[in-house]
Amino acid sequence: MTTAPNAPANPKASRKILVVEDEEALALGIRDAIEHAGHAVSVALDGDAALEIAQGGDFDLIVLDLMLPGQSGLDVLRKLRDNQHTVRVLVLTALADEEDLIRGFEAGADDYMKKPFSPRELLARIEAQWRARARSSCARGVSRDIDAADSTRRFVMIRDARGANARNGTKRNGIDYT
Ligand code: CA
Repeated sequence: MTTAPNAPANPKASRKILVVEDEEALALGIRDAIEHAGHAVSVALDGDAALEIAQGGDFDLIVLDLMLPGQSGLDVLRKLRDNQHTVRVLVLTALADEEDLIRGFEAGADDYMKKPFSPRELLARIEAQWRARARSSCARGVSRDIDAADSTRRFVMIRDARGANARNGTKRNGIDYT
């Protein structure tokens, strides 16, 4: 990577995003908001479709509802991570239960949003994912840089919450878990 450690991610870059939400009106509302921000959006209305579409496409991010008919969002997330999918995942949940959120992170979520949320907050969190990705890429190349090292530490702390990754020592986004 030649990007400078603090260089902002290109805010205008178009990304591929999969929205998984069984409430169709909400799914379409999220789709419209993300498309308006310049990204390409696919929509899945249940867990089975989500898994199929996610595995067949090269997505930059999945916005994933946890409560879905058929297999749950957590099931989908676990299967993707079991298959070494490194796509970023932002979990949507109406569940106020801390345990469910922790399970989401343990299953490999990168961030979450509690419903109800505003489109502005959703877009802000989505854009933050690109910056996180840029930081982790930088950390790979310039690990002695203080800023990059700080990014790495934060990143590892977050990723360490993922039991599966820590257990199998997977090297994801350049971070070695051994
Ligand atoms: Ca739902």
